[in-house]
Amino acid sequence: MSTSQNLFDVAAIRAEFPVLQQKIANKPLIYFDNAATTQKPLSVINAITDFYMQCNANVHRGAHTLADEATRRYEQSRDKVANFINAYDRSEVLWTRGTTEAINIVANGMAQRLKPGDEILVTEMEHHANLVTWQQACLRSGAVLKVCPIYEDGSLNTGMFVKLLTPNTKLVALPHVSNALGTINPIKTLTAQAKNVNALVLIDGAQGIAHGGVNVREIGCDFYAFSGHKIFGPTGIGVLWGKAELLQAWPVWQTGGEMIAEVSYQSATWGGLPNRLEAGTPNIAGAIGLGAAIDWFNRIELTALQAHEQRLIQHATALAREFSGMQLVGTAGTKIGVMSFNLKDCHPTDVGFLLDKQGIAIRTGAHCAQPLMKRLGLPGTARTSFSLYNTMDEIDQFFNALHKVKQMLT
Ligand code: PLP
Repeated sequence: MSTSQNLFDVAAIRAEFPVLQQKIANKPLIYFDNAATTQKPLSVINAITDFYMQCNANVHRGAHTLADEATRRYEQSRDKVANFINAYDRSEVLWTRGTTEAINIVANGMAQRLKPGDEILVTEMEHHANLVTWQQACLRSGAVLKVCPIYEDGSLNTGMFVKLLTPNTKLVALPHVSNALGTINPIKTLTAQAKNVNALVLIDGAQGIAHGGVNVREIGCDFYAFSGHKIFGPTGIGVLWGKAELLQAWPVWQTGGEMIAEVSYQSATWGGLPNRLEAGTPNIAGAIGLGAAIDWFNRIELTALQAHEQRLIQHATALAREFSGMQLVGTAGTKIGVMSFNLKDCHPTDVGFLLDKQGIAIRTGAHCAQPLMKRLGLPGTARTSFSLYNTMDEIDQFFNALHKVKQMLT
């Protein structure tokens, strides 16, 4: 695979994704639902298969060759994640089921630490995973949930963000990138502002991880959560990164095997990081698959990847602006390759259904962001989300298909 910007070889990248080679509705599949989940390259699929075929065993506890090899591959993946996000230490990388579980671990601990009158600050563009969790933490603790507004173009009202921070703000929970709008938030600046009032900062990195060199030290946050399946890895595996000094004292959230130090019939003490927050047999194959996904992703030069995605979104946006009756939802200045839209007099669900009949996969609905849709006065949107294996030609074909959809529905 080429790594230079000019020679970004989409055809070579596509060839590594078996799922993209098929036809849907007798047409080559156009997969524009990458914000929901990304496809998996062969190297990831092989890493998972190899694990089951060569060294399936439980980790950390075996006294045999297979167990040693399983543990080696599993823990090597933790190192890969730690390097990928520039963690201070590998023990700060906790395996979770995904972003949702990662946020829940933090919320569970916060709920035990918060007291009435404390405040949590989120934004109007949250995915439910980074909203309902905090609602529940507030219900349990008596803390107050504050919501930072967005502008009509889907960018965060950063002036209001600063105003909403108070000495009572104990935690700020922000999306790195909005899944519904594509907005990239200035998380480094926002984190620094939150630190002025000594708030903890959690970044929901579900959409940020696959788009741009996440460096947790540079961001300055306390927690960063992401899902493996959004970065070409498997489902059912994700990461909570947190600063060691916080995680060491974080309330345990599940108890059982793996996470203990000493157990008697009456009581137990907890082990060290990362195991104290990883009870039970983990998703070993998932972690190994995520490690392989990171290896794969690391082969691609970041600037080339970002340039490719920007070309795609700019091309799509230009065509959308010429498309009569098409309303773009989310036009912030800094965006990833997400284009949310509505067609005049067409329900988004019908648009998605009729595109599927032409071999094009998109997402429709509220995108797990019902309050955001209400805030924008929309029933939902149709959402195309592009990834590094998508092409300009696919975007042209998408607009041809959309013309047909419009003719059928209006
Ligand atoms: N946060 C954002 C911004 C998302 O886009 C998603 C998933 O789409 C999530 C959180 C939840 O991720 P998961 O379902 O993988 O836990």
